Amino acid sequence: MTQQDKAITLFGSLKTEYKTIEAMVKIYCKDHHKTATLCEQCEDFLQYAHTRLDRCPYGEEKPTCRICPIHCYKADYKLLSQKIMRYAGPRMLLKHPVLAVRHLIAEKRPIPVKPAAGASNRHKRKSLGQ
Ligand SMILES: [Zn+2]
Repeated sequence: MTQQDKAITLFGSLKTEYKTIEAMVKIYCKDHHKTATLCEQCEDFLQYAHTRLDRCPYGEEKPTCRICPIHCYKADYKLLSQKIMRYAGPRMLLKHPVLAVRHLIAEKRPIPVKPAAGASNRHKRKSLGQ
């Protein structure tokens, strides 16, 4: 994966979801890896999460990852994501209450039965020539 991938545009709720993940990774990395900026491993994780959001077949209708029926993360990234979420989740309410509450509300939305054709962020991007 290249550095450029993260410059890819995410639309609407996908962008908000990325911001939420980014905030959680920052909390986790700061407390566990003690580097001034994000460490290489966490940077790589964020890039991976960004690409998964871009390619999610649900697009902006995407359910939250915890309740999603599609398991799109590779095993090692999934494991790391669980560690990050478990640690940063409860800390998000204090540090980023708006993002945290939005996410909690999103968890209550029903899961779309099936992704619509061409709903992914990537598909939308390509159709806009981005
Ligand atoms: Zn880290």
